[in-house]
Amino acid sequence: MTAMVRAEGVTKRFGPVEVLRGIDLTVAPGEVACLLGPSGSGKSTFLRCVNHLERIDGGQLAVDGELVGYRRHGDRLHELKAREVAVRRRDIGMVFQRFNLFPHLTALGNVTEAPVRVLRTPRGRAREEALRLLDRVGLADRAHHYPGQLSGGQQQRVAIARALAMRPKLMLFDEPTSALDPELVGEVLDVMKGLAADGMTMVVVTHEMGFAREVADQVAFLDEGVVVEVGPPDEVLGRPRHERTRAFLDKVL
Ligand code: ADP
Ligand code: MG
Repeated sequence: MTAMVRAEGVTKRFGPVEVLRGIDLTVAPGEVACLLGPSGSGKSTFLRCVNHLERIDGGQLAVDGELVGYRRHGDRLHELKAREVAVRRRDIGMVFQRFNLFPHLTALGNVTEAPVRVLRTPRGRAREEALRLLDRVGLADRAHHYPGQLSGGQQQRVAIARALAMRPKLMLFDEPTSALDPELVGEVLDVMKGLAADGMTMVVVTHEMGFAREVADQVAFLDEGVVVEVGPPDEVLGRPRHERTRAFLDKVL
């Protein structure tokens, strides 16, 4: 089976600083992978590479069997043009710590925008689909509210619905609950659990150990730009083999 994400020896530098120093990670279709690790270990950079927002310097990175940034033509590789990158990125949904909703559009407007503009979905159909997605994230009754009228947890759920509206085959989450008041974290994690249960392939950077333990098929612990340890959550979280993993878990648990 083709992996949804396959990283082999991925390196990335910013100027003189090598931020990713050989990331290996494979995520199968339908799997949930949680990435843990201290601040600055390269988690966000790795997600940005998967989402074509950064260019890798070495190794190989493929999404659903296609090399990120390249198109295969016979046995030659051609660099993707900006337009081709945009098309590839439609298949990848990303949710950030900050929700970045359009403040002048309602929840419904936010979810409808990309399908109408990018996929040329007829507005009526896009609205129907958006209402279905808002219902799925528990916000059917907030469709006509503006972001400023919604709580942080509700805004983040709209952001998830907005990403889903593009029918992505892969969802990336970068600390989706880190900016939320503690009492709002659960409602966002519940939506993510629902997505996982429905078979969505997800790579989730999170410090929510309960979520990782319950939902992840694999947990990868990153430190200084490498995957130090990867495996099922009960192993990596319950019986970490590496001192650096243990030290990190002692701090967050
Ligand atoms: P994490 O998400 O694990 O906290 P990041 O991927 O954000 O880590 O950052 C890894 C390292 O790369 C950090 O030292 C950060 O300062 C550096 N970094 C990230 N983005 C850039 C950038 N655009 N330019 C220079 N350095 C960067
Ligand atoms: Mg980060």
